[in-house]
Amino acid sequence: MSSTASGKNGTWRNWGGNVSARPARQVAPASVQELAAVVRRAAEDGLKVKAVGTGHSFTSIAATDGVLIRPQLLTGIRRIDRESMTVTVEAGTPLKRLNAALAREGLSLTNMGDIMEQTVSGATSTGTHGTGRESASIAAQITGLELVTADGSVLTCSEKENPEIFAAARIGLGALGVVTAITFAVEPVFLLTAREEPMPLDRVLAEFDQLWAENEHFEFYWFPHTGNTNTKRNNRSAGPEQPVGQLAGWFEDEFLSNGVFRVAQWVGRAAPATVPAIAQISSKALSGRTYTDIPYKVFTSPRRVRFVEMEYAVPRAALVDTLRELKSMVDRSGLRVSFPVEVRTAPADDITLSTASGRDSAYVAVHMFRGTPYQAYFTAAERIFTGHEGRPHWGKVHTRDAEYFARVYPRFGEFTALRDRLDPERLFQNDYLRRVLGS
Ligand SMILES: Cc1cc2nc3c(=O)[nH]c(=O)nc-3n(C[C@H](O)[C@H](O)[C@H](O)COP(=O)(O)OP(=O)(O)OC[C@H]3O[C@@H](n4cnc5c(N)ncnc54)[C@H](O)[C@@H]3O)c2cc1C
Repeated sequence: MSSTASGKNGTWRNWGGNVSARPARQVAPASVQELAAVVRRAAEDGLKVKAVGTGHSFTSIAATDGVLIRPQLLTGIRRIDRESMTVTVEAGTPLKRLNAALAREGLSLTNMGDIMEQTVSGATSTGTHGTGRESASIAAQITGLELVTADGSVLTCSEKENPEIFAAARIGLGALGVVTAITFAVEPVFLLTAREEPMPLDRVLAEFDQLWAENEHFEFYWFPHTGNTNTKRNNRSAGPEQPVGQLAGWFEDEFLSNGVFRVAQWVGRAAPATVPAIAQISSKALSGRTYTDIPYKVFTSPRRVRFVEMEYAVPRAALVDTLRELKSMVDRSGLRVSFPVEVRTAPADDITLSTASGRDSAYVAVHMFRGTPYQAYFTAAERIFTGHEGRPHWGKVHTRDAEYFARVYPRFGEFTALRDRLDPERLFQNDYLRRVLGS
């Protein structure tokens, strides 16, 4: 998998292949000063500015026809502070590099998403999250931020310094400035025991509250056209370390989850009528397993099969109804859905436009294999999610606009007022931000 969005003939493309753009110029500044100069020059030239990560967003949130700021020269660890237990990293640092560097120092983040290809700034700017009972998104682990604002000045914020900016800028959608460095809270590295187990959907839904309450990190994948799920429970453990064996790891993570899965997706795309039968087989292919390892090795795994995704956060109390409605919609629709639906949770947090802002949340993610028409499925799923006051992931396909967001985010006006203050001329504007924040 190429982890970075590709560019040919000056065209920028995202990982999912569903968004492309032709920036007027592309730059890769190597320092905060260089970056500030790029921002000032773009303003003088009347061009918009957009910083990009690795292009793993499925929305056009990172697309621009102005100046595209690439992350690759703004990477690395600036400082590890063992007294405050924090790490400060350059904004373009890939999460995988951060995780490996922390592990070498005997440290770890508390929670992670499914993959670690993204940059720290790209991942946090859209609210990238994993699953957790008490621990929230990656942005919720931020304790300080440094950004270059529209006038080219460098601004820092934390809970104590510019707290109103800190509240919003941790998930800033690229709308408030270009993030140049991020400070994260870290803790001594610990072990997680993962228990993966197939379970009937009816049982998962009947026992969802208990499964959530009894596990630090609970998630499951439901296979449409079947009543089957794979569940995953991650809990801290005293060890000993028991990583997935190399051969078993290769077989389950590479061969079954990526290799065979890719072939199944090809067959399903060419002959949609086979999808329900393939889903029955896929959902039974992975057996139960238990392993114990350091956090990022348990939370993340490679994703080599390309897809397009929509994900909504609904109130956690609405999860079971949402899933039942989704299943009955798929059963009645004649749709052929070859990709599992992923379900995760997050506790309420205090970030202005976090999908979990002020609300205990459950995430429901629907996917389609790249190249398969997804509109009919996503439109029907989105109707169900919005019926539960769902909040879409900022980096995943959705059709919502500012009017909707003003309804489902009580602090929406706080974010747009801050944007008016920090970027009155809309230097960081693009079509996506015009739609979701208003002009
Ligand atoms: C295979 C795959 C797996 C995924 N798994 C998960 C998951 O488990 N959980 C989850 O929540 N999401 C997941 N996502 C979504 C992904 O984490 C987000 O879309 C994330 O924002 C992508 O990060 P990126 O570095 O590619 O940023 P990009 O997509 O390139 O950019 C995202 C946003 O960040 C802004 N940005 C980037 N750098 C800066 C900067 N320096 N300053 C200001 N703004 C900046 C961009 O302008 C844009 O608005 C997944 C996506 C894929 C393709």
